[in-house]
Amino acid sequence: MTITPLMPVYPRCGVRPVRGEGAYLFGENGERYLDFASGIAVNILGHGHPALVKAIADQAATLMHVSNLYGSPQGERFAQRLVDKTFADTVFFTNSGAEAVECAIKTARRYHYANGQPEKHRIISFSNAFHGRTLGTISATNQPKMRDGFEPLLPGFTVVPFNDLAAAEAAIGPDAAGFLIEPIQGEGGILPATQEFLRGLRKLADEHGMLLILDEVQCGYARTGTFFAHEQYGITPDIMAVAKGIGGGFPLGACLATEEAAKGMVFGTHGSTYGGNPLACAAGEAVLDIVGEPAFLENVKQTGARLRQALEQMIPNHDHLFESVRGMGLMLGIKLKSDSRAFVGHLRDKHGLLTVAAGDNVVRILPPLNIDDSHVAECIERLSAGARDYVLPEAA
Ligand SMILES: *Cc1c(COP(=O)(O)O)cnc(C)c1O
Repeated sequence: MTITPLMPVYPRCGVRPVRGEGAYLFGENGERYLDFASGIAVNILGHGHPALVKAIADQAATLMHVSNLYGSPQGERFAQRLVDKTFADTVFFTNSGAEAVECAIKTARRYHYANGQPEKHRIISFSNAFHGRTLGTISATNQPKMRDGFEPLLPGFTVVPFNDLAAAEAAIGPDAAGFLIEPIQGEGGILPATQEFLRGLRKLADEHGMLLILDEVQCGYARTGTFFAHEQYGITPDIMAVAKGIGGGFPLGACLATEEAAKGMVFGTHGSTYGGNPLACAAGEAVLDIVGEPAFLENVKQTGARLRQALEQMIPNHDHLFESVRGMGLMLGIKLKSDSRAFVGHLRDKHGLLTVAAGDNVVRILPPLNIDDSHVAECIERLSAGARDYVLPEAA
């Protein structure tokens, strides 16, 4: 037997965290890391935030799980708060991002079915998108590493180039149900949609009786300095998938929709055993208590601007390695002139700085959203030191 007890699907690195404290992670042997990966944009309040820990502990002792066969005072309260703060009229809670996107796809298809147009089932999505790992969500991306060997995938998806409005328009036909898009691609390499593109998709959707579905699993929930990224584009979606930051580390996701878009989602059409159970809602409410405050969002914006400025100032000093900085708020990416995975490994192993590699040779900087200037300074110090003693793989 050579297979490991943990199915070997992740290329796990040597960092083996056993404890976290604020923006820091500690390994098995006490090694300390500045965590600017945050579990990939999940731990938005850092590790061990006292209010989140207390909310989970209190709720666990009171009532952890009941079936969705019963009324949910916890879910009703949390959903109402999300509805009050967004475009949405209704919320379906899930346990993950992929499930939130699945619900979004089902809601869109079901909308057209309810309208007597079941032929409108095709979702138009975008190149290098990431929407999760279920069969439905891998059908909405064109990335071979996620799709190969899992065919046949779900029919009814067309993938067109990101930020290419003409290509999106050309893909529309009588069977088109909606567009599915990340306002800022995360895994694809911190690539924001242009204003013209996202607004253009909204307009095309309206003109063709299609729905606009946003995947804000990574870019949403205060990450960019507004509650959701689309607020910075002056548009609203019909349906939106949310996860990652929403539970601050507790597995939680949500599919938000307008009343109109959700009109097909009636009794019996969808469900989840765990989705939105009392424990998950308690975690979600504790996170929302903090990140939903205007002052918190303003602070994300300002900290993001300072971090970005510091990164930009650093680039000319290491222009053999760094090309540019992109992103919004505290969802930032440094585009490298060489492979980002190797440099992420160097920062991690030699400089105790955790970042995440993304497509297009980008190093993702996704810190907890409650960091302060000392963490920004420490990140820049470690990044600069890392750039100074980094030997390019080609040259090694
Ligand atoms: C992480 C991610 C997902 C999938 O979330 P899971 O919780 O891993 O299922 C979907 N969409 C985007 C944009 C993501 O970043």
